[in-house]
Amino acid sequence: DHLANKIAAGEVVERPASVVKELVENSIDAGSSWVKIDLMEAGLQRIRIIDNGAGMEEEDCERAFHRHATSKILDENDLFHVRTLGFRGEALASIAAVSRLSIQTSTGEEAGTKLDLEGGHLMQKGRGDARKGTDITVEELFFNTPARLKYMKTIHTELGHITDVLNRISLAHPEVQFVCTHNEKQIFKTNGRGDLLQVIASIYGMNVARKMVPVEMETSDFKVKGYIAKPEVYRASRQYMSTIINGRYIKSVPLNKAVQQGYHTLLPIGKNPIVVLNIDMDPILVDVNVHPSKLEVRFSKEKELYALLEETIRNTFRKETL
Ligand code: ADP
Ligand code: MG
Repeated sequence: DHLANKIAAGEVVERPASVVKELVENSIDAGSSWVKIDLMEAGLQRIRIIDNGAGMEEEDCERAFHRHATSKILDENDLFHVRTLGFRGEALASIAAVSRLSIQTSTGEEAGTKLDLEGGHLMQKGRGDARKGTDITVEELFFNTPARLKYMKTIHTELGHITDVLNRISLAHPEVQFVCTHNEKQIFKTNGRGDLLQVIASIYGMNVARKMVPVEMETSDFKVKGYIAKPEVYRASRQYMSTIINGRYIKSVPLNKAVQQGYHTLLPIGKNPIVVLNIDMDPILVDVNVHPSKLEVRFSKEKELYALLEETIRNTFRKETL
């Protein structure tokens, strides 16, 4: 089973940024209103995630490190109604398999639970403090998978990947406060007050935030809400186009295309808008089960969605220029 975990880990845990993504998503699924991320050496030395979410009971905490132990899906029908970010029950087992991990967690009712694991093996178990929430430290990532460790790039590159992850997650969750430190210096912070424009300002700066125009549209199937920048602040890279479906950051080329079509005549050829769109729909219309990294999804009513987006963006700017 430990070997299986190590193999599965390769799928889920590619680099420090994947650890940050999985742990922070767990914190969000646990209903946290703030999440603190402390990194040493871009997470290669240490990643610590502290949240104020629901926490776990002792038994659940131990079970959480077994593969396919998820509390989020009750039966296979649930897979079509996924509202949580996680549902595979693989992340904690995979991360633990390739690191030294310690967890302290409590539901706030009585003394919490503390576990220490090494390469997925339970080394120590004890009582933790009773603060409601979870505190996970991952040290020496890939210490027992030297091939993977060798593949790590510079601190600068790894930190860049982590920043991308945190940017996306905070755009998807303006209602959660994120604070991130690197080598004990604060590098990122949102205020958690639920204001998407504030998050955009903390990621792209005030100058961009000032140029953002609200986008809003609702049909019986889709609810679209977000911001798109005026044409004068275009970007060469498509990286500034963010789409969030039911709180999950996704990548979709056709969806980006639809947005660009709506914006089309306003932009120089080959340039891309800065845009953040939150799209909510019945989870039954989305299949998130396409890839373990969960960035890719499929939609049941994709044509309708793309047409709606194109029209919404077009109307947004028609209104603006009137
Ligand atoms: P998944 O998120 O797919 O269910 P994970 O391996 O990421 O699987 O986590 C396993 C389980 O551990 C979760 O289903 C959840 O019950 C619990 N868990 C993990 N992280 C936290 C957290 N920060 N707070 C509360 N519960 C957590
Ligand atoms: Mg998870």
